[in-house]
Amino acid sequence: MINPERLLLEFKNLLQIESPSLKEGKLAYYLADIFEALGLKPFFDTSSEATGSEVGNLIVKIPGTISSSPLLFCAHLDTVGPCEGVEVIEENGVIRSNGKTILGADDKAGIVILVELVKALKETQIPHPPLEFVFTTAEEIGLLGAKNLDYHHLEAKMGFVLDAELPEEIIIGAPSSYQFVIKIKGKSAHAGLEPEKGINAIKILAQIITNLPTGRIDQETTMNIGKINGGKYINIVPDFAIAEGEIRSHHEEKLENLKKQIETTIREVIESYPKRFQDLPSGEVNFTRVFKAFHIEEKDPLLEIVKKAGERIGLTMSLKKKEGGSDANVFNERGIKCVILGTGMQKVHTTEEFIRIKDLLNSARLVFEIVKLCGENPL
Ligand SMILES: [Zn+2]
Repeated sequence: MINPERLLLEFKNLLQIESPSLKEGKLAYYLADIFEALGLKPFFDTSSEATGSEVGNLIVKIPGTISSSPLLFCAHLDTVGPCEGVEVIEENGVIRSNGKTILGADDKAGIVILVELVKALKETQIPHPPLEFVFTTAEEIGLLGAKNLDYHHLEAKMGFVLDAELPEEIIIGAPSSYQFVIKIKGKSAHAGLEPEKGINAIKILAQIITNLPTGRIDQETTMNIGKINGGKYINIVPDFAIAEGEIRSHHEEKLENLKKQIETTIREVIESYPKRFQDLPSGEVNFTRVFKAFHIEEKDPLLEIVKKAGERIGLTMSLKKKEGGSDANVFNERGIKCVILGTGMQKVHTTEEFIRIKDLLNSARLVFEIVKLCGENPL
């Protein structure tokens, strides 16, 4: 069984180990030591070469006591900032920071649940399938660890990412997302002496942005222009302007349409200017995929297991979609069917982040129950 005191103590230890994206080394080695002390053989993959992190993804395999296909569990090692010198405050059943930093329950709550799971399995000796734990790096800066994971190490075809909020929530879908950069080239000229000779790239970009939709496009699609940049001096007609943005949707087709709309808008605005200097003005857009959508069917056996596990510990589970990406997007794309489970964390990515101890414990119990169920009814 889950041991609440032990779990809480370890959770507080983890919260106090700084692990900003790409600097997950200290936390990763601390965890590797824990798993080694539990008789396991944790190892790192070679993803650090691609991600630039201090360490690769940490992988731990827990041999099964029954023969069955393995189950994957994933939590990410890194946190967003500010995360220097987190002071952990426990008050009225809630754990939070002192308000100057994030807490880091995202995703150390997920990590500690897996640490406790191994200890509980060892003690109770219940039958369970083989488990594959992946602790990813650089999740918060574009899912880099999961994207560069060496999938040869994994055999699991289904599993769970512990990276959502409430224990009663099962996240069964998340959108696709692209980031894009629009670059406009104009021509510079002295703004006072000969403005006629210039082409103002900022003005062209402004027109393009004005003609583009932003915000909520429809129920499952959004678009944002988040950054602009252009020009060098106040007295020079700017010869370049750049805008960066993103689009997200649960439907791939809607994203393709938006991409086309952006390209068409740029072309139309550019064409409305006479070409006066060679091929100027010019405009282009480049799209980079950030993550790919996934959707798990409501009748999927994976969900049946979670619902049943929830029932056994008295939780009323509900199915939800998420609006952000997570490692689950990448695993699903790579053929490992994953849903996202809650860990109790709330108001993540803010200095008001907190977690109710009751929720953290329920999440841990849920995960334990899932593994137990898979031991009773092998996948
Ligand atoms: Zn997270």
